Order: sequence, then structure tokens, then C-alpha cells
Amino acid sequence: MDLLNTLVDKGLRRETPTREEALAVLATSDDDLLDVVAAAGKVRRHWFGRRVKLNYLVNLKSGLCPEDCSYCSQRLGSTAGILKYTWLKPDQASEAAAAGLAGGAKRVCLVASGRGPTDRDVDRVSDTIKAIKDRHEDVEVCACLGLLSDGQAERLRAAGADAYNHNLNTSEATYGDITTTHTYADRVDTVHKAHAAGLSACSGLIAGMGERDEDLVDVVFALRELDPDSVPVNFLIPFEGTPLAKEWNLTPQRCVRILAMVRFVCPDVEVRIAGGREVHLRSLQPLALHLANSIFLGDYLTSEGQAGKADLEMIADAGFEVEGADEVTLPEHRAAAGPGGCGSHAAAGGCGSEGEPAGGGVCGTAEASAPASAEPRTDLVAVRRRGAGTDLAPNA
Ligand code: SF4
Repeated sequence: MDLLNTLVDKGLRRETPTREEALAVLATSDDDLLDVVAAAGKVRRHWFGRRVKLNYLVNLKSGLCPEDCSYCSQRLGSTAGILKYTWLKPDQASEAAAAGLAGGAKRVCLVASGRGPTDRDVDRVSDTIKAIKDRHEDVEVCACLGLLSDGQAERLRAAGADAYNHNLNTSEATYGDITTTHTYADRVDTVHKAHAAGLSACSGLIAGMGERDEDLVDVVFALRELDPDSVPVNFLIPFEGTPLAKEWNLTPQRCVRILAMVRFVCPDVEVRIAGGREVHLRSLQPLALHLANSIFLGDYLTSEGQAGKADLEMIADAGFEVEGADEVTLPEHRAAAGPGGCGSHAAAGGCGSEGEPAGGGVCGTAEASAPASAEPRTDLVAVRRRGAGTDLAPNA
């Protein structure tokens, strides 16, 4: 297929595809699925080999958020039966992180619900970063605390944070349909702050909220412009008790096509399969490893993932290998730029939601181009009841 040959060539040269080419990937048929995977897989292997980076989520503060992000189980008014707790103490967070690191994770993502941190919260997270790095010198720490005020990114960087996550989530045009308490521009501003402070930017999206193909392409092109080092791709987990509870739009094949499109547009960036991997990719998870070079190990923020051991077995069975702590994730031209030195900046988003969209909402459903045939799989959605914030051992 000429389209795929062109996209491979561009991906190997780090050249941006056209919007039409990105849309064409999303429009390919199931008959072409393996050809799409083979093409995007060449780009993935060129920049990242067969390595899979493992990341581990620690939810420092769960639920009780005053913001209204419709996809999120922690939102204002959510009746999802999730764990609710306030800030974990540094030693509790360090204990939770240790389980993920023992399972093979090389990055710990410290996440807190809320609009953004107070300066006191930044102190707490700084203490937590120290507690983790005292025990695990080589660990990468990414903070995900919501919208940042002036000076907070610099303080996190000084405390030892390596990265900051804030997702754009969806296109600028549809952002107001999923959240009213902050704006797309607010999210962009926080990613700029992270970049400016020398933090490695992590910013991604959520698919499956009823958006059009054009919206998915818009947000991925906005991310390319923003130039984060890592792009988490979430697939909406339609939690009961949130506005988007009925939005079951995704098939495993569509998820694969979305990941392929992201790989073609962001060829040399760490593409991470985030929340919804098990729920939506299901038995196609190993195929998706040919596109993404990074996943979360074990559980998500408020929902359970498959057993950490099953993640490791899947990686091995599919012929991939877990990236070691001594291996550099990013290609040389990016890694040489150092944390945060990953190019131009343009937008970002993120707050307490990395790895796990969780609510419901009504955004662009009338124009949704996702297949209507996707069946609700509520049987696969399990609220997290173990790990951080509980007395039970974490899944790692
Ligand atoms: S995504 Fe973040 S800000 Fe939005 S409701 Fe969830 S925890 Fe709150």
C-alpha cells in the first residue's frame, strides 16, 4: 500500500505526515490491519528496538476532585465507587513505588487528583521524591499533579523530578465538551512550564470519548507540535457513575489503528499504552506492542489492570524485552537534549489522570466516527481495591 510505504519512509526520517495520511490510517479496514501494524512496527523498531519500558503508577491522592473532567472517576459529582483518600505519606508512597520497581518498572508516576498543587503539596511531593530516590537512585520520577503555578515546576525539578505529565486529552475544538472548569489553554500553559523548568514533558490523549477521527488527528498533531518526550494513549474506561459511562465506542482493531497513527505522527517519541489497555485492546494487547514502546505495569489510578506477572509474560511471549534501568529510552538525538530538552513547545494537559481516564461525558457523539458495534465490556472494569491507599499488596 503506497500510503504505508510513504508513512514508513517519513517515520524513519522523522518527517511529519500530512493530516490526510493520518486520517487515512484511521480509515483503514480490518483487512489491512496487519499491514498497518507491520508498517508502524518498522518505525517503532527503528527508534526503540524491541524494548518495552515499564512505568508504575502511584496514586498519591485519590478522588474528591473539584474539577469536572467528564472522563474521570475522581471528578466532581462522580458516584463511581473508587477509593478516596488524601495524600499518602512519603514512606507509604515509597513503599508502593518499590513494588513496581521490583516488578521491572523504571519510571514511577506520582499522581494526585485535583486542579493543581498548592505550594504545601509541592513540598509533600518533593519529600516523596526524596524518599523514593533515597531507596532507588536510578529511578525516573514523573509527577502528575495538575495545573502548575509559576515556580512550581522549578521546585519539582530541584526536588529530583525527571518528568511532568499533563495530558491534552482531546482536540482544542472539543475540549469544552469534556471539561468546563479549566481550558485547553490552561493545559498547554502547564506543559510549557514543565518544559521551561527542564522537566521531560509527558503529554497524551484519551480516545473513545465520542470524538471524530479529525479530533484524534488534531490532538496528536498538537502533541507533535508540543514535542513531549512521551505520549500516553489512554482508551476511555467508561466508569459507571460518570457522564461518559455509556461511551463504549472502541474496538480492539480501532485501538490498534489509533496507536499506529500516533506512532507515524510521533515516530521517535515514547508512545505508552495507558489506561484502558486491557479493557479495549483485550487479546490484541501483544499486537499493540509492535506500535507502542511503553506500558504501565499492574494497576491504574482507580481501576485494576491485569496482573503485573501477566504483563511481563505477554512482553516475553510477543518477543519483546523489558527495558533495563541502564538503557536509555529515547533515541540519541532526543536523549542528548536531556530532560525537558525535547524541542519546541506548544500544548499539554494533564492532571491526576495519567493512565486512567475514568468518567463519562458527552462530547461530539453525534459525529462520532468510531464503530457503533463496540460492545460494552463492563465486566472488564474493576475498581482498584489494592495497593496505594489500602492495606492490601499492590499489583506489580
Ligand atoms: S482528570 Fe484530574 S482535574 Fe480532572 S477530574 Fe480527574 S483528577 Fe480532577
